Amino acid sequence: MPILLAIGGLLLLAFVFGPQLLVRRVLAKHGADRPDLPGTGAELARHLLDEANLPSVTVEQTDTGDHYDPEAQSVRLSPQHHDGRSVAAVAVAAHEVSHAVQHARGETAFMRRLTLVRQLGWVEKLASAILLLSPIVFAVMKSPALFGLELLAGVLLLGIRVVVHIVTLPDEFDASFGKALPALVRGRYLVAGDIPAAQSVLKAAAYTYVAAALATLLDVVRWVRMLRF
Ligand SMILES: [Zn+2]
Repeated sequence: MPILLAIGGLLLLAFVFGPQLLVRRVLAKHGADRPDLPGTGAELARHLLDEANLPSVTVEQTDTGDHYDPEAQSVRLSPQHHDGRSVAAVAVAAHEVSHAVQHARGETAFMRRLTLVRQLGWVEKLASAILLLSPIVFAVMKSPALFGLELLAGVLLLGIRVVVHIVTLPDEFDASFGKALPALVRGRYLVAGDIPAAQSVLKAAAYTYVAAALATLLDVVRWVRMLRF
């Protein structure tokens, strides 16, 4: 029985943290400096935005992970992709610019996703409150069953984030393979030999949110356990 539990635990860990580790590995693998490339991630983002007639969309550096912020209308790139000259930097920059293009065109999938993600703020706040309260409930009620129920409710609520990101994956794939890859090929920003690497990076970029949402599921559980013990 303990062996089964250990295997189950390992499978759960692999399921929850595996995707994020894979995404990070792919980005790191193709993050090597390539002086022969025409520009950094930020330079390419600026160029592609200008080409798409979006001069008002800004390009900024961030420490919170690569993303497009629809409120600020800003393409934000992590330092290694903002200032880096690598296949990963170029592909990630093109991916984030594609979200700005989806937004500017008001594409249905992007707008639907925007609404869904905005509503996620409530879900997250509610889940955090439930999870934060569970140790207190346990201390006051002394009921492990109630504690377990609270924990489950919190994690299930957070699971909604995973589902939302899975449902909106087509939008991510459009950014990567419907827009970014054709733009990279058309503009000859990468040589033919770099395309397979760029495809791996674009796939990883598409899965970023699903992977991150999965990883927070267990992070929160661990955090509550820390509070309790
Ligand atoms: Zn994306």
